[in-house]
Formats: sequence, structure tokens, C-alpha cells
Amino acid sequence: MPAELELVEIAPLPPERYQSVLNPERAEDFREGVKVAKEIFADRAIWNVNSTSAGGGVAEMLRSLLAYSRGAEVDARWAVIQGNGPFFEVTKRIHNHLHSFAGDGGGLGDVERTVYEDALKPNIEQFTKLVRPRDVILLHDPQTAGMIPALKAMGLPVVWRCHVGIDTPDDLARNAWEFLLPYVLQADAYVFSRKTFVWDGLDEARTWLIAPSIDAFSPKNRDMDADSVTAILAAAGLIGGDGYGEASFLRQDGSRATIQHRAEMYEEAPLEPTARTVLQVSRWDALKDPIGVIKGFVEHIAPVTDAHLVYAGPSVAAVADDPEGVAVLNTAVSYRADLPAELAARIHLACLPMEDGDENAAMVNALQRNAYVVVQKSLAEGFGLTVAEGMWKGRPVVASRIGGIQDQIEDGVTGILLDDATDLAAYGAAVVDLLNNPEKAVTIGDAARERVRDEFLGARSLMQYMQLLGRFVT
Ligand code: UDP
Repeated sequence: MPAELELVEIAPLPPERYQSVLNPERAEDFREGVKVAKEIFADRAIWNVNSTSAGGGVAEMLRSLLAYSRGAEVDARWAVIQGNGPFFEVTKRIHNHLHSFAGDGGGLGDVERTVYEDALKPNIEQFTKLVRPRDVILLHDPQTAGMIPALKAMGLPVVWRCHVGIDTPDDLARNAWEFLLPYVLQADAYVFSRKTFVWDGLDEARTWLIAPSIDAFSPKNRDMDADSVTAILAAAGLIGGDGYGEASFLRQDGSRATIQHRAEMYEEAPLEPTARTVLQVSRWDALKDPIGVIKGFVEHIAPVTDAHLVYAGPSVAAVADDPEGVAVLNTAVSYRADLPAELAARIHLACLPMEDGDENAAMVNALQRNAYVVVQKSLAEGFGLTVAEGMWKGRPVVASRIGGIQDQIEDGVTGILLDDATDLAAYGAAVVDLLNNPEKAVTIGDAARERVRDEFLGARSLMQYMQLLGRFVT
């Protein structure tokens, strides 16, 4: 028997919350939009389908957008497809190729298509039993594209959302498009994060652009006082010492909880609470360039500053749709272990516990608030939620000038963009400059928060999705 589709439970959250953080004009638009959505989507469900309920940006966004939709009395639901090892190898390959990254070096031919379609069959069978004729379907990412034809054959409105992309596609990316196009072309609409990500061969009239967003009230992004930051970091083992008081945080549903799990740390000694930290938070993925982040720190930042590097990712056991995680983590762990002791002592690799999503988010929140500089030195990036998260916390972010990061950061104003993500000296210089110029760091951090308030909060993307999906209901 194939594994059952997972249905993720989402408790409603009040969209009215956003009135307190949006500027007045946006607040009014949002209030109006919520009212309209409630009417349009009465008596039907909006089904979101993806391949993981935890880990990574898509799961993160769905969790909050669906909660606010439900709070607006729109019946938004979330189904997670189940795949086997070979399926996730193929979809990881597609993901890598879409970023022009060879990954495991394998191709995308007939054999891979059979693996892909065979694994999707039982998911399609189960899913089509759940949907009703008036429902609307929003499929996310390459893993679900193969479901489009069957759902269209049932006459349902189907929108496909691609969260990944590359500004300058090469043959690898084009091959991945070719693999997916037979499915995607059948969708009523396709959504990309930015214009440069849109594939050749798609119908312009069906193409929509919606940038991702963050939830200002989630455990990951909500305000947190300095004492809570320290207490959470200490309870999670992310800094040394104890006696910091109760490590409590607010869950997504508003209830209070305390940190119960500890991070798995790869370090010489725990971080001093007062240490200045440079932080990257990312899945253990080669495209996030953990080795480059560490190497650049070792060669260009550690020798001239007192800063420590914290590189945090999810516990690798937890992210089921990413077979490369363990290997990437191991590479980083060995790289650190082979460094001279005085440099290894400045580097702290953290695997954050994933048993409890809210708890994990609170740890990320505390890490980002505690960071002096946030880094996102990815080699490829669809959007980079971690950039918006750091900016919303008023941190100066140093990040690669790629993908959606460019839409978030105006270089020198709301963050620092690195023209060449592989130029470790430039990355080092940008971080050192901020460490040496606290006033500049504060000015950039303040501007960054306002930029996110204006453009990248959940209220905006929620409205865009409602408008798009509203097109297909009568
Ligand atoms: N993240 C997390 N816990 C971790 C590592 C990452 O919650 O241990 C989150 C991170 O805060 C962000 C998301 O995962 O919200 C990653 O999204 P992003 O767009 O940066 O990259 P993706 O993983 O989608 O490529």
C-alpha cells in the first residue's frame, strides 16, 4: 500500500492582525480584500499541494498564508504528497537543474519520467477522491507538476506555483523546463517569483508574478525582547551558560511554550553570550554554499575581527524531500574539524531540532535577532526568505545579487549585495565593514525593516493569490 497523503491541519489566524503593522493605505486595501475573498470562495476549498510540511521556505509560507485564509473564513487546505527515494532523487535533480546546478550529475530522461509519474500515481488517486467539483487547486513546485493533467481532466481550476528559478537559464535549466512543460502547459495559470524566472514556451497570458512574503506574527518573525532571545539561545544550546530565566516563546496559535529541545552543535566550545555573530540560516544544501560561507569567514573575517560565525540549518533527519542534506552537513562538519583550532573555535555549526515547528522557528528568530550581520551567500536562490526575515528584524543583511534577493535589497540602502557570490574576499569585506561601522549597520537595518513592511509581508501575497484564484471561480 502506498503511503497516505498527509493532510496538514491549520488553525485559523485573524487577518486583522495585519492592521497594526501595515501602513494605512495597505491596511485599508487588505481589509477590503479579505471581505471580497470571503464572498468569492464561499462553499469551496482552495487546496494547496506540495511535498513537505516542514523545512524550507515553501512550507513556511504555506503554514501562515493558509492560517490567515482560514481566519478570513476561506476554506484553504494543505495536502502533502508522499514519494519514495527515487522520486525525491529525480525531483531534487529537477530542482538543481532549474537552478542550473548539475547536482548528482544524472539526467532527466524517460527513465526519470517513469519514476516521477509512477510515484505520483497513488497521490493523484488519493487526492482526486478528496477534491470536490467547486474546489480550486494550487500546486507547488516540480514535485506536484505531474498532477496537473489528471486534475485538469476532472475540469478543476489548477494553478501551478514555481518557487524556484534562475535569472540566466542554461541548458540544464532548459532541460528541466522541457521535462516539466508537458504538465505545466495544461495549468490554468503558472506563478513565478519574478519576471526573469518565467520559462520559454509558456503562455504569457497565463503567467503571474507573485513575490514570496513573511509572516510578521509567526514565531519566527514576531517581536522578541532581548532577555527572551538570550534565554531561548541558552536553552537550545546555541550559546553557553544558564540562569537566563524562562526560555518561553509564543506559538503560532498564540499559546505560550518553553524550549524543550537542544540543537546539535558542532563547535569547540559554546558561544559566549556577548560574542558578535555573523549568521547564515539555511537548509543543508550546496546551493546555499556552506563551505564558501565558512571559508570566506575563515580567510577574510576571522583574522581581522572578533566575530564568530554561526551556520544553522535544520536537523537533517527531518527534511524528507532533500536527500542531499546529510552529505552537505557532513562536508561542512569535516571542513570545520580540519581547520586550525583557533579558527575552528570561531565557527559554530548548528542543527536545529525540528520536532516542534514553532520551537524551531523561535530558535531561528532568536538567532537572527542575536546576529550582528545576517548573511545569505547562496549560489542560487528563488527568493531567500531568510533575507526578508533578517531584514524584518532590523539586521543588516549581506547577500548574493541573485534571484529574488535583488528585489529585497537595494545595495547599500537596505542591505549589501554581493555581485559575485563566489568572491569570498568581497563577502568578507562587506561583513567586516558592517562589523567595523555600527552606525552604518543600524541605518541599513532600520531601512531594511521598512522595506519589508512595504513589500514583503504576508498580507500582500495573500491578496495577490486571492485575486489570481478568484479568476477561476464562477
Ligand atoms: N529554516 C528554518 N529552520 C532551519 C533552517 C531554515 O525554519 O533550521 C527556514 C528559514 O528561516 C526560512 C526557510 O526555512 O524561513 C528557508 O527559506 P528560503 O527561501 O531562505 O530558502 P529555501 O530553503 O526555500 O531554499
